Amino acid sequence: MTDCIFCAIVAGAAPAVVVAEDERAIAFMDIHPASDGHLLVIPKAHSADLLAIPPEDLAAVTLLAQRLARDAVDEFGADGVNLLNSCGADAWQTVFHFHMHVIPRYLDKTRDRLHTLPWTPDVAGDRDLISALGSRLAATV
Ligand code: 5GP
Ligand code: ZN
Repeated sequence: MTDCIFCAIVAGAAPAVVVAEDERAIAFMDIHPASDGHLLVIPKAHSADLLAIPPEDLAAVTLLAQRLARDAVDEFGADGVNLLNSCGADAWQTVFHFHMHVIPRYLDKTRDRLHTLPWTPDVAGDRDLISALGSRLAATV
């Protein structure tokens, strides 16, 4: 993946503030942070997105993300953490090497540029549609 910026970071060919790594995963600071301490965790081997990443790499990324979420709470005094993954351009993905955002959250809004969820989880859905879609997914397992 010669034109992948995250592969270049893994290879040491592009700069990054690396904070942790193991055999399969590496974590570095996001250069356009949504909050103080916003970082990205990626697999060292290129996978485009959530649908493509092998289970072992997904597990390694998720475990490292959990460790760094805990570290952010302890070290930065974060009040909470959001893990975020976007899969596909229409779902806001802009870099097509799988990554998990670890976004420490703060009540102090000088440290945190997130404000609300991008939808309002207070509007009840159509019960028949929810049930039908759930049944379709259950039938695929
Ligand atoms: P996405 O929009 O795909 O979910 O997230 C891509 C993230 O990668 C963005 O938050 C963006 O700031 C970050 N990013 C893009 N290019 C670079 C880079 O060269 N270095 C670092 N550290 N982060 C990057
Ligand atoms: Zn890549």
